[in-house]
Amino acid sequence: NSSLHELDPDVAAAVDAELHRQQSTLEMIASENFAPAAVMEAQGSVLTNKYAEGYPGRRYYGGCEHVDVVEQIAIDRIKELFGAEAANVQPHSGAQANAAAMFALLQPGDTILGLNLAHGGHLTHGMKINFSGKLYNVVPYHVDAETGLVDMDEVERLAKEHRPKLVIAGWSAYPRQLDFAAFRRIADEVGAYLMVDMAHFAGLVAAGLHPSPVPHAHVVTTTTHKTLGGPRGGVILSTAELAKKINSAVFPGQQGGPLEHVIAAKAVSFKVAAGSEFKERQERTVEGAKILAERLTQSDVTEVGVSVLSGGTDVHLVLVDLRNSELDGKQAEDRLHEVGITVNRNAIPNDPRPPMVTSGLRIGTPALATRGFTAEDFREVSDIIAEALKPSYDAEGLKARVTALADKHPLYPHLSK
Ligand code: PLP
Repeated sequence: NSSLHELDPDVAAAVDAELHRQQSTLEMIASENFAPAAVMEAQGSVLTNKYAEGYPGRRYYGGCEHVDVVEQIAIDRIKELFGAEAANVQPHSGAQANAAAMFALLQPGDTILGLNLAHGGHLTHGMKINFSGKLYNVVPYHVDAETGLVDMDEVERLAKEHRPKLVIAGWSAYPRQLDFAAFRRIADEVGAYLMVDMAHFAGLVAAGLHPSPVPHAHVVTTTTHKTLGGPRGGVILSTAELAKKINSAVFPGQQGGPLEHVIAAKAVSFKVAAGSEFKERQERTVEGAKILAERLTQSDVTEVGVSVLSGGTDVHLVLVDLRNSELDGKQAEDRLHEVGITVNRNAIPNDPRPPMVTSGLRIGTPALATRGFTAEDFREVSDIIAEALKPSYDAEGLKARVTALADKHPLYPHLSK
């Protein structure tokens, strides 16, 4: 029963260093968040030891009476949170949720319509070397070059031309809201299923700050660790009619034993997401992103070639366009890292640079909102980012301002030694 530090000082040292990194820098990767201590406690519990193939009440292993309780709580809570008829909380990740949903609805070789990766879609929406691109016939749709918005005329035209079996709406890098009713109308016109992948904006939906895809889609997939703020994992919501197909696609179709410790942590995070503090946090998340977008459209940064795709944001992230900047995406990511802000470079639509370099940045506010950042703090961090992206910048001065913000909002103080 040795502690981690006693048994394995090498791994313990890396974990401690990661804690220090999270505490001392500003996390602005749009897909990341900080899980509450109770979520991490559930995930670190004895449930990690239990095999539970099957579903609550119908398991292939004995001794499942307690994990059945946990999994049923998770199912009931997420159905309630999003008003869904059915939920599967077992997918190990967002990618596996999408794989299982497609496995349930499609046969290999069927046609799917998804947002192109370079235009903000996810790997699992049809990227060439992903399972989705290998198993299915992918027809990608795009954003309009002028407006930066998903081109619904193109979606309709491609749907009518290619008659997909599945239309996927959802994104990993897009600063606006999608019209789910329009997607459903188009899917119905060609007899396709509509799947919405709300991984990025699920927390905003839970808080009522973003339209819900649930009334419109046959299937809704999500991760639980992005705006939703829970443990790393996936969930599939569906109509009652599709529930059986989805369940059998997850297990035994895609996975063996569910991660009941993670499912316990998911359940805790769904409880948190139903509360008023969570709503207030999501409001600060969106407000922070709007403050950042406004700051990055002021003349002192536009003069040096920095701009914001679509001119602003309705969600938790901003896409920075660096096509006219002296910095490429990689250099800008490194520049912000140097002053203590973590973001990721991101291809922008019609990016002239290769994917490992890119001409864009994706900057998100969920993690800082969880840390307690107010509008005033978001104004300060936006100003630091604006200054850091200029040709001449004071690295030490900006780093000190980052440290002041990090110190103002301590993270996981109970874990510090
Ligand atoms: N779907 C979308 C829209 C995503 O952005 C992501 C993650 O980036 C995923 C699915 C996959 O989630 P995971 O990394 O848990 O497999």
